[in-house]
Amino acid sequence: MRFAVLGSGSRGNATLIESRGSRVLVDCGFALREIERRLADIEVAAASIGAIVVTHEHSDHVTGVARLATRHGIEVWTSPGTWKGAGAPEVPGLRLFNGHGRGFGIGDLRFRPIPVPHDAREPCQFTVEGDGRRLGILTDTGCLTARIREHLRECDSLILETNHDPHLLRDGPYPPSVQRRIAGPFGHLSNQQAAEVLDAVNHRGLRRVLLSHISARNNRAELALEAVRGVDSGIDAAFLVAEQDRATGWLEV
Ligand SMILES: [Zn+2]
Ligand SMILES: [Zn+2]
Repeated sequence: MRFAVLGSGSRGNATLIESRGSRVLVDCGFALREIERRLADIEVAAASIGAIVVTHEHSDHVTGVARLATRHGIEVWTSPGTWKGAGAPEVPGLRLFNGHGRGFGIGDLRFRPIPVPHDAREPCQFTVEGDGRRLGILTDTGCLTARIREHLRECDSLILETNHDPHLLRDGPYPPSVQRRIAGPFGHLSNQQAAEVLDAVNHRGLRRVLLSHISARNNRAELALEAVRGVDSGIDAAFLVAEQDRATGWLEV
């Protein structure tokens, strides 16, 4: 099982996951041409994607979903609230899941939704299992919940939001209302909150952590890395940083 983050940040998000013959895209916050170009960079034809799973309706996650799905006949999986929030566009095959349910399978991949506190209608993040491995995905989350801690245990790899540094956010260019939204319980995880997630999962088998959804204005990669490397919980994982403007390339889970 392997994955590639095709881009991450407030200007667009998309993650491709593959196990045996199954390929699933989580979110498509890029325009059609842009996502096709990024897929081509890792030598994937869009038509080979089996499904798009959508986490929530914010434009940096849904912008390209309907056009990509329609153009290549790809089915779309999402929560009812997310699809409503996205304006319920016409797609070739819509599959709705219960965010509080036990999950669903797409080919060789098994998705378990994690309801998260974020300012959207019915946002979910996921663990994804395939080939005996487990990938955790946690971005666009305002604060840690017991459920998140529970779900993210025993992951082999983690895609983890380190959105902002609280000091850079406070001293940065955003108006106070936007700062409050980002730092609030329905906003985004700070570097320090991401460190708390790692502390909470405390899993020695964790091999890889990809820091993601990093704010271009309110954070720096080195600050995010410093925060998560400071976690003293016996984790011996490799830390990597996802970028806005280019794909990571394939990473083994
Ligand atoms: Zn986002
Ligand atoms: Zn969001």
